Amino acid sequence: SSGLVWLRRDLRAHDNAALYQALKHCRQVHVAFVFDTAILDALPRADRRVEFIRESLEELDQRLAELGQSHNTQGCGLIVRHGVAEHEIPKLAHQLGALAVFASHDDEPHAQLRDNHVRGHLADHGIAFHTCKDHVVFERQEVMTLSGTAFSVFTPYKNAWLRKVNDFYLKAYPVERYAQHLAPRPPALRQPVPTLQDLDFESTNLQALRIPTGESGAQGLLADFLHRIDEYGHRRDFPAVKGPSYLSVHLRFGTVSIRQLAREAHARMQSGSEGAAVWLSELIWRDFYVQVLANFAHVGQGESFKRDYDAIHWDHGPHGHKLFEAWCAGRTGYPLVDAAMRQLNQTGYMHNRLRMVVASFLCKDLGVDWRWGEKYFATHLNDFDLSANNGGWQWASSSGCDAQPYFRIFNPISQSEKFDTEGKFIRRYVPELAALSGKSIHAPWLAGELELQAAGIEIGKTYPAPVVDHAEAREKTLARYAVVKKKA
Ligand code: FAD
Repeated sequence: SSGLVWLRRDLRAHDNAALYQALKHCRQVHVAFVFDTAILDALPRADRRVEFIRESLEELDQRLAELGQSHNTQGCGLIVRHGVAEHEIPKLAHQLGALAVFASHDDEPHAQLRDNHVRGHLADHGIAFHTCKDHVVFERQEVMTLSGTAFSVFTPYKNAWLRKVNDFYLKAYPVERYAQHLAPRPPALRQPVPTLQDLDFESTNLQALRIPTGESGAQGLLADFLHRIDEYGHRRDFPAVKGPSYLSVHLRFGTVSIRQLAREAHARMQSGSEGAAVWLSELIWRDFYVQVLANFAHVGQGESFKRDYDAIHWDHGPHGHKLFEAWCAGRTGYPLVDAAMRQLNQTGYMHNRLRMVVASFLCKDLGVDWRWGEKYFATHLNDFDLSANNGGWQWASSSGCDAQPYFRIFNPISQSEKFDTEGKFIRRYVPELAALSGKSIHAPWLAGELELQAAGIEIGKTYPAPVVDHAEAREKTLARYAVVKKKA
């Protein structure tokens, strides 16, 4: 029997659930990836994610070839198509004589729709479509409350997750065990991974940023992080410090297995590492939001998790647009917010603390709809993932499950003083403020004339004046959110 593995958010040869299932059940297995124009057409022509995927596929192609060679099969490798996945996959499966297509679950609404269409097209040719869990430890209805409903509060979810987890759920799928079933590609399909130009994309600064790609890139980051994991709890909140793992883009595209990460963290937690326990908690947040998306369909459709919050009246007018543009460009006059937005624009990454700060600032200081921010992040984040992004935005806007209470409003100046005390991060991304003292850099408009002059800064000219007054904005926000309070 012959099978086709369709990779999507699991771009690795090692510990891959769909690949393992196919190799175990079929004698001849091909592996394919589709650059799906249904997704790509909407993206800007220079997109780090497309380049990240492309680079990662080159390594994957090589790994599959080596896996085949280890069983003396020449000509194994990745089959890469460029077109509408919904049509390409059934066509390819038919062409290869596959009896079944294997893929891992993707619970995003558009992916579900696509997969349903693919299932239908495959069925027309008498080909089965098998999907399985790969990119989370627990999914869908695997971790539920005692009364059988989905969790909407994190801590009890986490406790239930930790009670359920064991070696079985964390062990790797031993792909190597059945690697003799990898099939050589037909000569016509032995093409190299397309170049960015072939895909009609331009190169980005991914390499200049030295963002490592592929399985080897992820393993390098992980090895580096494991030296620091014990300190994670103390270091993770300071954007100028190398605290987090930077693995999010790899988790997004599956160049690393969540099971490997959770296993490493869980073992260290059990040997008493507090840092590992905090980091595991973050991985559980990721599972949490994936199950929220799977169990509460409305959050994937632009609606607030708490529906009352859809009664909030956001500033959708020209003033709101102007404030939104200043936020996007990193020109709000609040240095930490601006530094964070410039980090996003220049690198596609933003530190978690700063994601919380800028998200809160957009909806609670600028009065702009969180959905605009969510969309901006979706376009610019290398690690953009609908579940975590929506979860993060709804947390910040207070409309989500287990969100901040609406009256808790981050003060962008005290956040800056607390988490970037000396202004090291600000200086990196807002160099026009670099000459200010550590005291003045958090709110430059309050600095003395002499200091500003000496630093070559003219507020409103060389650096923007604050676009809103935080204290006034706070009052407006409390009034705006009052519709919720009245309803609650
Ligand atoms: P680490 O601190 O090393 O954490 C390890 C991993 O845990 C991360 O890679 C990520 O997979 C997961 N994780 C950590 N925090 C969270 C969280 N709060 N929710 C869900 N998973 C988490 N994360 C994304 O992967 N994609 C997004 O699109 C995304 N959008 C966000 C939007 C907002 C407004 C907020 C507040 C957070 C968002 N996050 C998102 C979560 C978090 O900020 C990033 O996962 C983290 O900054 C990535 O850096 P890291 O890999 O170095 O993290």
